[in-house]
This record gives sequence, C-alpha cells and structure tokens, in this order.
Amino acid sequence: MKVLKFGGTSVGSPERMQEVAEIITGVSGKKIVVLSAVSGTTNILVSIGEFCANDQREEAISVAKELRKKYYDFVRTLFPKEDFASANTAFVDEIFDNIEQLTHQKYSDQVAKMLVAQGEILSTRFFTDYLKMTGKRCEMIMAQDFMTLDKEAEPDLKTTKVKLDHLLAGQKENIIITQGYIARNAAGGIDNLRRGGSDYSATIIGAILGAEEVQIWTDIDGMHNNDPRIIKTTHPIARLSFEEASELAYFGAKVLHPHCIVPAQMHEVPVRIKNTMDPAAHGTLISAEQEPEAVKAIAAKDHITAIKIKSSRMVMAYGFLKKIFEVFERYKTPIDMITTSEIAVSLTIDNSEFLKEIKAEISKYGTVEIDKNQTIICIVGDLIAERKGVGSAIFNALDEVPLRMISYGGSRNNISLLVAEEYKREALIKLHEALF
Ligand code: ADP
Ligand code: ASP
Ligand code: MG
Repeated sequence: MKVLKFGGTSVGSPERMQEVAEIITGVSGKKIVVLSAVSGTTNILVSIGEFCANDQREEAISVAKELRKKYYDFVRTLFPKEDFASANTAFVDEIFDNIEQLTHQKYSDQVAKMLVAQGEILSTRFFTDYLKMTGKRCEMIMAQDFMTLDKEAEPDLKTTKVKLDHLLAGQKENIIITQGYIARNAAGGIDNLRRGGSDYSATIIGAILGAEEVQIWTDIDGMHNNDPRIIKTTHPIARLSFEEASELAYFGAKVLHPHCIVPAQMHEVPVRIKNTMDPAAHGTLISAEQEPEAVKAIAAKDHITAIKIKSSRMVMAYGFLKKIFEVFERYKTPIDMITTSEIAVSLTIDNSEFLKEIKAEISKYGTVEIDKNQTIICIVGDLIAERKGVGSAIFNALDEVPLRMISYGGSRNNISLLVAEEYKREALIKLHEALF
C-alpha cells in the first residue's frame, strides 16, 4: 500500500486534477490519496476568518461569493457529464451556504477552523466524483473521522490508527481518497495540522498503516539544495536521510511541512518527493540510508526571535540553565538554537506568542536582551561539523555578514547560523556559491 499526497498546485485546476487521476492510475496496488485544497483556497478561507474576527462581515461574504463563482467554473470544466456537473454544483452551494452561515456566527477560533477545513472537503469531493465519472472505482473517507489531535494539539497516532483501521476494515476499493490538513481535536471540534499540513497527514497515515512508501507530489522535482525562490541555480537532491530531510523541513524548506518526516522516520516509511508537472523526474527519496556527502542543502527559517540572558550569577553555578528552560517549558515554547558563555546564554524561539510573559519571568535571573526579525540559516549534510574545511568555507563565505549565533557540532547533520533577516538573501547566495 502506498500513500500519495497531492499539493495545492497539483489539484489547482480541472486539468491538473485530470493529470493527477492519470498519475494515480499508473501506481500499482492499493493507495490512499491525500489531497490539499485547490491552490489559493486556504489563503482565501483564512482571510474570510480574519474579516469575521474584525467584524467585517460584508467583506467576508463578498470574498466568499467570488470564490463560490470560481468553483462553479471549476465544476463546469471538470465534469462534462451533466449529472456529475449538477451534483457537484449543488455541493458547491451546500459548502458556500455553510461558509456564509459561519460568517454570521459569533466569531471564535472554532469558526475559523471550520472555515479553513472547507477547501480540502471541496477538492476531495470533486476528485472522487471525477474518478467515478471516468469509471474508476474509489471511495472517500473523511479525515475528521480518524485524524485525531491530543490535548497539546499534536497528532495522536494511537487513536488515529484505531479509527483509521476501523474505517478501512470495510473498504474493498483500491483507491481511497481523503483530505489532508483536517483533523479533529481533543474537544471534538474540527481542527487542522497547521499550514502545509497535508504533507503531515500523508506521513501520519503512511506511518500508522506501515505503507510501502509515502509520495509527496508537488510543483517541483524534489527537495532542492537551496531555496529556489531566492537562488536561481538550485538542483534537486536525489537522496536524503530522514534526519537530513527533517532538519531541512524544520528549518524552512517549504516543500515539506516542518514536522512531517517525524512519523515516517519513526516507522521507517520512505518518503519520495515527486513533481506532478514532470512525473518522470527522479525527485528526492528520503529514507534511513545516509549518503556520505558533506554538504547537501541549505534552508532558512524566518521570523525568529533571539533572547540573551546575561547574569554574573551564572559563573560557577549549576541549575541556572534548568531554571531558564523551565520558563520556556511552562509556556510550551520550543527553543531552536542555544549558545552559552560563562556569563550569558542566547537562545532562539520562533513562536513569540508568550514572549512578554517569558521575558518577565527570565528577567528574575539576569538582564534580558531581545532581537526580533532574525533568520536561522541551516546547512545540512553528513557528519558536517566533523569534516575538514566545511567550517572555514562557511565562515569565509560569510565574512561580510554579521553572525549573531552559531551552532556547530550539536548535530551530526546540521550547522546553524543566526543572522538578522536583512542579511538572509546575501547569506544564502554567498553560501550557495561557496558550498556548491
Ligand atoms: P504543495 O502545495 O505541493 O504542498 P508547497 O508550495 O507547499 O507545495 O511547496 C513547494 C514549494 O516549496 C516549491 O514550489 C518551492 O518554491 C518551495 N521550496 C522552498 N524551499 C524548497 C526546497 N529546498 N526545495 C524545493 N522546494 C522548495
Ligand atoms: N491547504 C492547506 C494549506 O494551504 C494544507 C496544505 O495544502 O498542505 O496550508
Ligand atoms: Mg505544502
């Protein structure tokens, strides 16, 4: 059994959906097809939620009306057969009547989450009906009936497995379609796996079912060795280890959701990134195997906050770091990078929701300095910090870029640098020239 996930661009038009149907027909055996919303839809649904939050109901409704019209056109092109066209037009009406209804309700987080879930509900219904129209046997299962979050809003793999096994027990079809991104939370409400979460849905499903492989079909031919939105001469990497791919995803390589490699690695399910626009291209295979290449790729993660705590009490003292880390633990705020000296510790966070509270608490232990708008640049490879010449190549390349923090030797696969956001571009370009 394979899990095949198609992203927003891959299902972004009726023509693309038809191509996806071709691709899945070419994959043998049982498959679970996980779909994103049509590209652009989730952004629009988020904006409708934001209008509601600001009490701009008319704007929310007008944006929803425009989107409804686009879906009428989508349906008309995708379904030349009248009965399928009218059933799916009625479905569009049902979903958008529901969206308008939500805009009239008192705004809450739950309303916003129900709004953003509609994108994947639409795309999966269209795709299922398209396959049926073309004579293919398939079945759709609803993600909210199995994908479960725990009280910490993290995927609960055990419960998800029990529910998914139960749903699949009665299924005879070789093609099962489901929504990416959507989940149900511990309170029973509709929720999601955060932006880009369909990748995560696919690897969770692949992991708990022990799939042969998870394929992430997107608009690029694999994980590239640098951000292709900034560097014009990047190339796809044929093979990555789970650790390397995980570091790249976590540190900003947008092609994968930051956490999606974790379940695949835990259950040793290989992940293959493939290009829907060029199905013959090799793509990237992510597995337990480690290719012995010193430097494989560079990624960058924006909107980082650096916090420095200076204290003379740290000299010769133990327990100081523990007290600091406990504050971050209390506010459920993960720390990404740490550097220490005898009188100071610097660390970075990307979730600054509780920054004010954290600052107030750690100020008890020393003087606190905060730098916002920082970027972590992460250089990934095999035994990267143990090889001769890599460090000097990195630092020579960045001789004109002020480095705020350096994390070297903490991981087998990664060297991380913190720079102010305005230096990100320059740093990525210089590193690319020096390392590849
Ligand atoms: P999907 O909708 O299929 O999930 P995404 O837009 O989430 O697609 O991810 C694919 C995009 O990720 C690419 O078009 C590319 O611009 C961007 N990207 C950023 N960093 C990388 C990288 N290192 N390798 C490949 N793509 C990357
Ligand atoms: N549709 C969601 C998003 O745009 C999930 C995804 O595409 O992976 O974030
Ligand atoms: Mg994505």
